[in-house]
Order: sequence, then structure tokens, then C-alpha cells
Amino acid sequence: MVNVILLGPPGAGKGTQAKRMVDDRAMVQLSTGDMLREAKTSGTAMGLMVAAVMDRGDLVTDEIVIGLIAEKLETENAGGFIFDGFPRTLAQADALGELLTAKDLNLDAVIEMKVDDAALVARITGRFTCGVCGEVYHDSTRPTKLVGQCDNCSSHDLKRRADDTEEALRIRLMEYYKKTSPLIGYYYAKGALVSVDGLAPMDDVTSAIGKILPKA
Ligand code: ADP
Ligand code: AMP
Repeated sequence: MVNVILLGPPGAGKGTQAKRMVDDRAMVQLSTGDMLREAKTSGTAMGLMVAAVMDRGDLVTDEIVIGLIAEKLETENAGGFIFDGFPRTLAQADALGELLTAKDLNLDAVIEMKVDDAALVARITGRFTCGVCGEVYHDSTRPTKLVGQCDNCSSHDLKRRADDTEEALRIRLMEYYKKTSPLIGYYYAKGALVSVDGLAPMDDVTSAIGKILPKA
């Protein structure tokens, strides 16, 4: 059982690589962004509360996301967890450490995906996803084979995110550098940090991650 964190700015490729790890290994992806978007579309009280914050590009409160992760760790049974977009603050990192210890689970690696800001704008503004299976696409680097149809599940429900604009990305990047990037030092000091070149083609990033993780 391997538990990893994928750490990197918005658009670094965390979701793309997490989905490949789920397909290749018996792992479960825990994306707080996906959980929050689901709450938003299903119109739960929490979803309504976080909608404007997310669309603007700010972080939602630690309490909400820690609660979401705690619930998943209670209910999901996995051959390993991939934390995607969580933790994003030092308080969240401390809380995750406590949750894992309480469940007798280890954190095996924190994979930092390094990408420069110039590439992120192009990645974020070209991103779209399948509303049914969550497959991640890009207008130029990963288009669907048939226009308007998901390669994976054949759905026509392809969507763009409300926060995938240049304006919201500026705020999301600032949040990342202010609140999330200190986690690089935090996990380095714990001896858990490994960095990969997130600018490399998707398959190369997948093989770099494959070298870090034990064989599936
Ligand atoms: P994150 O989950 O870190 O926000 P995504 O996995 O959603 O990032 O990727 C953001 C966009 O960049 C998507 O449109 C995806 O198809 C594209 N992308 C992901 N990895 C790469 C890569 N290595 N090279 C080029 N484009 C990529
Ligand atoms: P993501 O899908 O990871 O890009 O996240 C989209 C948005 O959801 C972020 O811009 C935040 O508003 C919110 N969000 C997701 N994960 C977290 C987290 N761990 N802490 C705070 N806010 C989060």
C-alpha cells in the first residue's frame, strides 16, 4: 500500500497523473477540488457556501477540506491513496499527518511537479474535462479523438471549469505561492519530497513517477 501526495501549482498535471495511477494501480484519487465541485453542482449547503470562493480562485477553509478528507479516509478502502490538491496549507499538512497516524498509514512520497508559470496559463485556459468520467483533456496537447466526445466513456458532456480563466488563475497562483509552496520545505525537511519535471510530455512524467513508486 502506497500513499502519495501530488504537489504543484494549478495546471501542473496532478489530476492527469492521478488518473493514470488509478488505472495502473489499485489506488484511490482523493481530489479535494473534485469533491468541492461535486458539492457545488449538487447544491449542498457546503457547495453553496464555497462556490463563490472557488470561482474567484481563493482557497476554501482548512476546516472544510480536512473534514472532506477525514470522511474519505474513513469510508474508502484502497491499495493506496493519491492526495491531489490536498494539503494546500501547513495546517492541512499537519492534519493529514495526524489522520494518517490515527489510521496507522504511512506517507510514502510527496511528489512535487515543477512547472513554470508561463506554461500554466496555456494549460489552464486550454483545459476541459469529461463531466461523466473525469478524464482530463487539453485543446492542443490532449484533444479528444472525436470532436466533442470523451475517448474514455464516449460521453458528450465535456466541460470547462468556471475558475479556468486567466483572471482566476492569477489569484490561484498567488494562493499557491503564499500558502501551498511552503509545503515543499515542510516535506523536504521530513525527507519525503521528490521532484519531477512537470514540463515534460505526459508519458515522461508518468514514467518519472513510476520510478519513484514501488512496482504495481
Ligand atoms: P492539475 O490537476 O495539476 O490542475 P491537470 O492534470 O488538470 O492539472 O492538467 C492541466 C492541463 O494541462 C490539462 O488540460 C492537461 O491535459 C494538460 N497537461 C497535463 N499534463 C501535461 C503535460 N505533461 N504536458 C502538456 N500538457 C499537460
Ligand atoms: P483544484 O481542482 O485542485 O484546482 O481546486 C479548485 C479550487 O477548489 C481551488 O482553487 C480552491 O478554491 C478549492 N480547493 C481545492 N482543494 C483545496 C484545499 N486543499 N484547500 C483549500 N481549497 C481547496
